Amino acid sequence: MDNRAQQKSRPDATLWVVATPIGHLGDLSPRAQQVLADVPVIAAEDTRVSQKLLPPRAEPPQWFSLHEHNEAGSIDRLIGRLLEGQDIALVSDAGTPLISDPGYRLVAAAHDHAIQVSPIPGPNAAIAALSAAGLATNRFHFEGFLPAKKSARQTRLRTLAEHVETQIFYVPARDLIPVLEDLCTVFGPERTATVARELTKQFETVHRASLAELKAWCEADPNQQRGEAVVLTAGARPDDTQPMIEPSALAVELAKELPPARAARLLARLSGMDRRDAFARIERLRQT
Ligand code: SAM
Repeated sequence: MDNRAQQKSRPDATLWVVATPIGHLGDLSPRAQQVLADVPVIAAEDTRVSQKLLPPRAEPPQWFSLHEHNEAGSIDRLIGRLLEGQDIALVSDAGTPLISDPGYRLVAAAHDHAIQVSPIPGPNAAIAALSAAGLATNRFHFEGFLPAKKSARQTRLRTLAEHVETQIFYVPARDLIPVLEDLCTVFGPERTATVARELTKQFETVHRASLAELKAWCEADPNQQRGEAVVLTAGARPDDTQPMIEPSALAVELAKELPPARAARLLARLSGMDRRDAFARIERLRQT
């Protein structure tokens, strides 16, 4: 591997952004282990959690705690270490740092100081869930956590309801029922979705069904309300929002096949057109 992390006193230090397991400890990559074994400084969300991942080392690292509430205040000290030539590994409690986790301000500040930033890729709950969800993967939208309050959550969901790409939400499993309820209300109970819970852990579950079925399934089994979950929804299908056939083409077909009153009634019902307009259009087609 690239052994930049071992060169601890050169002026151009690296900020390593290290992904760690989301459950199964076997998912800590060899490169991640190497960097965690070598760097002099580790910035961690919760140092007690990350200490458990540390491979055997000649000397313990210096730990910095970097969480949501102190990130802004810690940046100067961490950038100072990097400018002195000390490599830093940034880790979060689980998964990839910065993805619904702290670190963005530190990484941005490192770029501002022309410090090299290098990712050690690995586990991420959103991508792991997407890979197993059975939903379209050509385009997807990562939403992360939704607002905790129902009204704010529904407002946010309304802005997403017509998106055609797969959507990914982080949901603590204890909130699955209220979140699935709101998704049923805003996206419609028939929308296909997947719940991916406790990925890589003992009670891993990946279940795809309609939103209404998923909600009923969670309600029926309290175990589904434990742990951590990702909810993925299929995108709004084009035919949810657009007619499959243009109204003008539909009118031509109906006028050919049916008596005028029936053709006009069907045209109005299928296209959403005003009934009088539908009658007028069928009448014009009959005359031509
Ligand atoms: N940075 C992390 C990543 O790369 O996935 C995400 C951190 S975020 C604070 C925690 C959320 O990720 C959880 O509430 C849950 O939605 C999701 N998550 C984390 N681990 C998971 C797992 N093993 N199975 C399912 N979802 C998980």
